[in-house]
Amino acid sequence: MPYISDRYRVLSCPFCGRSPEGPRKIQMRFGETTGGHCECGAVYVYDETGRMLGEAFNDALALLYREDYDAAYSAAEGEYEEEIITYEKRLRRYVQGAGPYDRSAKYLFLKKTSPVSDKDLTKTSNAQK
Ligand SMILES: [Zn+2]
Repeated sequence: MPYISDRYRVLSCPFCGRSPEGPRKIQMRFGETTGGHCECGAVYVYDETGRMLGEAFNDALALLYREDYDAAYSAAEGEYEEEIITYEKRLRRYVQGAGPYDRSAKYLFLKKTSPVSDKDLTKTSNAQK
């Protein structure tokens, strides 16, 4: 089956290509969010306005760490990966990346990177975004 990595007709997980469950409403300790998760361990938050990515990111991070907020907010860069899927309404396509479709609905995906040992963590200051 051909797999096109950056353009989908249905929402696909950017990490594994499977269709994640949801989006659905998720009740969290500090409010409600809309999102879901994927079999591969990725979580995502749906941002309908496409302009609340900061908030979506916080929600996604909390989901990724199962609402262990201490772990979530002390997570070092490199402990998880972030991908954004944009829904291009006009073309009815999902596109990987935030691109120029600024006001389109977005799906912010997070996934933990493979466990790394302590000594690896000290040198994990990879590329700044
Ligand atoms: Zn996945």
